Amino acid sequence: MTIAHTLGFPRIGAQRELKFAQESFWRGDITEATLRETGSDLRARHWGLQKQAGLDFVSVGDFAWYDQVLNTLALLGALPRRFGFDAKQLTLADYYLAARGNPQHFAMEMTKWFDTNYHYLVPEWTADTSFDGGTDWLFEELAQAQSLGHAAKATLIGPLTLLYLGKIKSGLTHKLDLLPRIIPAYQRLLARLQEQGVEWVQIDEPILALDLDNAWLDAFILSYNALAQNTPKVLLSTYFESVQERTALLHALPITGLHLDLVRAPQQLRTLLANWPQGRVLSAGVIDGRNIWRADLSSLLADLHAVHAQLGDNLWLAPSCSLLHVPVDLATETAIDAETLSWLAFATQKLDEVVALKQALNGNADKVAHQFTAADQAIASRRKSVRIHNPIVQKRLAAITEQDVTRHNAFKQRIGQQQQRFALPLFPTTSIGSFPQTRTIRQARATYKRGDLSHLEYLEAMRAEIRLVVEQQEKLDIDVLVHGEPERNDMVEYFGEQLWGYGFTLNGWVQSYGSRCVKPPFIYGDVYRPEAMTVSWSEYAQRLTSKPMKGMLTGPVTMLQWSFVRDDQPRSTTALQIALALRDEVADLEKAGIGMIQIDEPAFREGLPLKQQDWSAYLDWAVRAFKLSSAVVRDDTQIHTHMCYSEFNDILPWIAAMDADVITIETSRSDMELLDGFGEFAYPNDIGPGVYDIHSPRVPKVSEMQRLLQKARSVLPDARLWVNPDCGLKTRDWPETIAALENMVQAAKLLRATV
Ligand code: GLN
Ligand code: ZN
Repeated sequence: MTIAHTLGFPRIGAQRELKFAQESFWRGDITEATLRETGSDLRARHWGLQKQAGLDFVSVGDFAWYDQVLNTLALLGALPRRFGFDAKQLTLADYYLAARGNPQHFAMEMTKWFDTNYHYLVPEWTADTSFDGGTDWLFEELAQAQSLGHAAKATLIGPLTLLYLGKIKSGLTHKLDLLPRIIPAYQRLLARLQEQGVEWVQIDEPILALDLDNAWLDAFILSYNALAQNTPKVLLSTYFESVQERTALLHALPITGLHLDLVRAPQQLRTLLANWPQGRVLSAGVIDGRNIWRADLSSLLADLHAVHAQLGDNLWLAPSCSLLHVPVDLATETAIDAETLSWLAFATQKLDEVVALKQALNGNADKVAHQFTAADQAIASRRKSVRIHNPIVQKRLAAITEQDVTRHNAFKQRIGQQQQRFALPLFPTTSIGSFPQTRTIRQARATYKRGDLSHLEYLEAMRAEIRLVVEQQEKLDIDVLVHGEPERNDMVEYFGEQLWGYGFTLNGWVQSYGSRCVKPPFIYGDVYRPEAMTVSWSEYAQRLTSKPMKGMLTGPVTMLQWSFVRDDQPRSTTALQIALALRDEVADLEKAGIGMIQIDEPAFREGLPLKQQDWSAYLDWAVRAFKLSSAVVRDDTQIHTHMCYSEFNDILPWIAAMDADVITIETSRSDMELLDGFGEFAYPNDIGPGVYDIHSPRVPKVSEMQRLLQKARSVLPDARLWVNPDCGLKTRDWPETIAALENMVQAAKLLRATV
């Protein structure tokens, strides 16, 4: 019989119960025992869903109090020594101290889990890192599942992925130096799991899909051979990319099963199956764990028949990866129309999809016929629906020419015209867009959404904010102003709500990190802009000042990256459609007299594929999308862009190819380090390396910013240099914002006086 399972299930709860319990605990409103109870209830509920759907195992080990990597470290006793924890007696307060820090201890660093929007806590590797055993949470949770009568599969992050994702802090030359310490720890864990009667353990090694050198590849052979004795059956799981380059290695490993992501990389199946080891289980990840679309069950089943014929009962079925990355349940989406709703599947629905396929393969097609019929209908409706397919957009897209994605003249000519038009001083000062999103703003928006504030009243409240922001900037004597973005709840949602083809959920929360969840919109159809989105705000703001007012837009790649996207056309096509909509907005802004337009692309780098060989294909279309959105303007209209990070030396030619007249970037936290790489291939256009960190309420001194500016001047010509903060100011309060900007303007003025 074909087995159905999942690599993991979202832990937050359909109503974000875990988030609210965590936050109450942090505030001191509930005790550790109450928080633990919430966790235990959620686990029981999620296992119940898995069993009820008809999975053969429930997954244990995917729950975490903050993050799964942190939990793994707790299990191994490998949390950073600097916290001074008692490894065997960790309290939940300890977990949260490691995750969030306090005045005595800085928090562990956080970074994105592969190419997802989930953030994990980065293990800290030092000479005295040990894996001598920590808390027993995994064994306790297994006992909980067993006592509820579930067949439990344990899940663990694999030793090599764990080592790889950590950072060497001190005393080690290579992360693999820790291998001799971590392998015995995993041996002990596996032996204990076996003692506890666990038949299968899923060990996640997603790094297998990355570019790995021989040292890491050899370590796989060594480690998994060492782990082969005294253990439950091992299902090694890979996801997010193809592992077909590793076929020989994987076939040689002494494991009982292998999971493949056949949504991201369906083509790998053929290579891996070519000489599939006798008796090995293949867990086929066929249901998309990274997106929210209902699966095309019939076509999946057709493909699976052949695999089933080859592998028989050794074929298992699963989502492509853990369902952590999708919302919990569609059942509460009461505001989406019936047709669109029929196209979607969240985690709970995806369990049913896996089971429907399993039933069909096991000869019970009649039992799940209704699911197949419903899926067929949804697929057919998606293929034809006028909500999705807009011939006007498609025609426009097909007609894009090189001219459309190229400014009329090169930067060297444009900048002269722009200087003439704007007459800015040397080292012009500006900001990134948003100003403090105060309680007043949030309240006005909430009241408006509730219907207790009329449209005109809301408009006036936002205009009052804009007046305030403009007035303050004039007082500060900033050179290029912004309107402050008070009308925007979120930089993607704001635009998505005004574009055809974008859908929103009421409850589609996905964990981003710790208690923080995001609710990404979903792009279901050809993107189309029915009317101007920002023009009236920018126009209004420009009327308040004689200084240039920057128009402010979110770029196509960021719109794409922070949404669930269509799976019925390439990402690049969707990006170009968004770019067309933005292009019209840019043209309208220009027509309305806005002379500078900033198109933010904070997620540009995030879109990079996991394998380096795929980078240039991505970068080519990402750059093209940006240029399509921006290259519509006259030479004397100045295009700005913004990115919230500074590591782009490896993609600098593409950043330059975007050909924005001005780019503002994050550099203050890295002490202008990025500029080090600028030597031979300096960024050719204007650049504003952030001179202060907006992530902290601390007001930077004039001298600090002067020092950073001097550093920038050693690499960049004075004429190309702008002065601005690192990022938008929406999370800051007014007093610190004013104080910081005052110092920033002062730093620029002092510098001007010296040249
Ligand atoms: N213009 C946006 C702001 O200032 C940019 C935000 C971002 O870079 N994430 O808020
Ligand atoms: Zn930013």
